[in-house]
Amino acid sequence: MNMDKFVMCRNYRFWENVRRELAKSKFRKKFKLCRNDFLYIKKNGIDVIKNHAYDFIVKRLAPAEIKNDGKQTPWSGHPVFTAQHATATCCRKCIEKWYGIERNVYLKEKQIKYVHYIIMSWIVEQYNNECNPGSKI
Ligand SMILES: [Zn+2]
Repeated sequence: MNMDKFVMCRNYRFWENVRRELAKSKFRKKFKLCRNDFLYIKKNGIDVIKNHAYDFIVKRLAPAEIKNDGKQTPWSGHPVFTAQHATATCCRKCIEKWYGIERNVYLKEKQIKYVHYIIMSWIVEQYNNECNPGSKI
């Protein structure tokens, strides 16, 4: 995956740490891509999913003030929603708690990229673990 070098160097270890903690959370680890999520990815291609993820972050997470924070991410219906619950990037409260990114301020470009990277890493990993080798992305 293409990743901004700066974000990668600065945050990669941190994401690895959070990932270990997430694996211990009963709530977080119950989220898995469902059959419809897999079909959706296969049908639309990973680049479309990347664009959707970016769009969701910018519209639903990046603003400084979010009226329905904590409720803006549906439980299912899109692979990105599932990934957000699994990675604790579902709302600004969770992002603050798990990643230390302060809420009530607009997300910076590098923070948007970081959250995007986390969501997409999770989706690609899930997808590649579940699908046969010939259809890996
Ligand atoms: Zn949340």
